[in-house]
Amino acid sequence: MVYDVAVVGSGFSAIAVSVHLLRSLPASASIAIVGDDPAFGRGTAYRTEFHLHRLNVPAGRMSVFPDEPDHFLQWLERQGRGISRDEFASRGDYGLYLRDTLASLLRDRPSRAKLDFIRAKATGCVRLADDGLLFQLAEGESLQARAVALCLGVGTADLPLRDARIAEPARRRLVRNPWRLKWLSKVKPEETVSILGSGLTMIDQVLTLRARGHRGVIHVLSRRGLVPHAHARHHGAAVLPDLPDDPLTVSGILKALRRQVRQGAEWRTVMDGLRPRTQALWQRLSPPERARFLRHALAWWNIHRHRVAPPVFEQFDALLRDGSVKVHAGFLNEIGFRDGRPCLAYRPRGGRDGVSLPVDWVINCTGMERAGIGHSPLLVHMADQGIVVPDGLGLGLRVDGLSRAIGADGNALPGLYAVGALTAGQFWEITAVPDIRVQAQTVANAIIAERAVSVA
Ligand SMILES: Cc1cc2nc3c(=O)[nH]c(=O)nc-3n(C[C@H](O)[C@H](O)[C@H](O)COP(=O)(O)OP(=O)(O)OC[C@H]3O[C@@H](n4cnc5c(N)ncnc54)[C@H](O)[C@@H]3O)c2cc1C
Repeated sequence: MVYDVAVVGSGFSAIAVSVHLLRSLPASASIAIVGDDPAFGRGTAYRTEFHLHRLNVPAGRMSVFPDEPDHFLQWLERQGRGISRDEFASRGDYGLYLRDTLASLLRDRPSRAKLDFIRAKATGCVRLADDGLLFQLAEGESLQARAVALCLGVGTADLPLRDARIAEPARRRLVRNPWRLKWLSKVKPEETVSILGSGLTMIDQVLTLRARGHRGVIHVLSRRGLVPHAHARHHGAAVLPDLPDDPLTVSGILKALRRQVRQGAEWRTVMDGLRPRTQALWQRLSPPERARFLRHALAWWNIHRHRVAPPVFEQFDALLRDGSVKVHAGFLNEIGFRDGRPCLAYRPRGGRDGVSLPVDWVINCTGMERAGIGHSPLLVHMADQGIVVPDGLGLGLRVDGLSRAIGADGNALPGLYAVGALTAGQFWEITAVPDIRVQAQTVANAIIAERAVSVA
């Protein structure tokens, strides 16, 4: 089957590109969404059914349409779950909102482009001599498209456990991918759990365990032992950052931000002021400065920038204070196996002597923020043929400022775009809805403009 546009992926980015295409393409056009996720349209983030899993962005900034900021708030209102724009809705509700938004556009079928949902994993892709790309699908089928938006997210394949030796018997008690929820029912209430990584995923897993009656101690281990901060209950106005001129350096930016906080600005308002400028700042940094940021500042950036909803933080903080969750800063050397249990061997940060920590389970909550391409057989196949190339920082694909994928010859292949975290090398701030929705609209418009002749 030949489509005008193939949207490959089935999370938020895919839905966002598709709704913009549906709004603007003529009825004669055809779109395929190719996704391997049974929770079509929700991706990892919004497929959860736990109400306690909240969005970490206020509801007033989560509309799928950048130019209709109240669209999500109005949907919540219609469902009888109206909240104020500064509050945090559940992630499950957000998944339903995405599904409903797409469905409402499709209800008006006769005037819309034809849209097919294809439940399949795209495993390979070749460039066609005349026009477009041909995708191989896991079931042996194939699909041809003139324009393509790659919306693959960071992948849900087993997340890497970097730099640690793992004893064979410990593997049975190691959960590599916490998003496969089956492990939760295996953990007994009194068992000791260790979580590797101390970011948002860790907080999700801690609260989910507790909500399911887990009472044992939870040890959290990460290199710096930093956990995300909370959003303020009452938002102050964003403060415009007073940033240095070129040549821009990471230390120069940090110095300027610290100065503003010392002068009395609340740090969250400074971060909020920085956010709309982050993409432009990232692009002003030289490649070595970007690498320096990833090496030295990323952990601090993450906890200040990716904050949690206040009620979520309060629950987590109570567990920290009563000692049922303990956070350790250190470097994991080995997951051994002793006396029938996994045993973490780590070197505390700043210390020399190793520590052994016997536990019943090891849950890997590291590694989500760096997409790379190695997790995706499709991207590896495309890179092998030079259709795409990895960006220099191992974040995802090389794209230009219009999100067009750059090939091995250094040129953008007409009609091939990437959306979402895969494009972090070019944009950095492109992992959350407020940024991806703008990129999705831009990409949809570019596809429509580029393909104007063939769909007319
Ligand atoms: C737990 C969690 C909570 C989050 N909370 C928020 C929040 O509150 N607010 C916010 O703004 N952002 C949040 N985010 C950020 C979130 O990543 C983005 O908002 C958004 O969901 C990213 O969507 P995506 O479609 O780019 O990626 P994903 O959601 O990862 O979706 C990609 C999809 O493509 C499919 N796919 C991949 N490869 C193939 C292939 N070869 N063939 C077919 N299908 C394929 C995958 O199965 C997956 O379903 C959260 C992220 C996580 C992980």
